[in-house]
Amino acid sequence: MKKLEEIQEELEDIEYEKKYTREKIEKKKREIEELRNKLSEEILEFYDKYRESFGGKVVAVVENGACSVCTMKIPGKVYSEIIKGKEGKCPNCGRWIFYIE
Ligand SMILES: [Zn+2]
Repeated sequence: MKKLEEIQEELEDIEYEKKYTREKIEKKKREIEELRNKLSEEILEFYDKYRESFGGKVVAVVENGACSVCTMKIPGKVYSEIIKGKEGKCPNCGRWIFYIE
């Protein structure tokens, strides 16, 4: 009888975890949706297309004139275009790159 009670209790714990995990999944999904609503169609398309091939790191930022992911220095012409438009593409790794002042 003791064994049965133990297993029953374990099962209830797991059921609780399952419910909790499901709620966490739903919360994350809502967060994703909220963030996606803030982004432009163009970058979302880019993100969805390259998410897997870039191992999840689709975007980068300019750091000391270089790409924060591949660390390659961005050539002058491209660099000034990125500064002007606040974003562009890394000529080396191809990631979407942002310039944050
Ligand atoms: Zn790069």
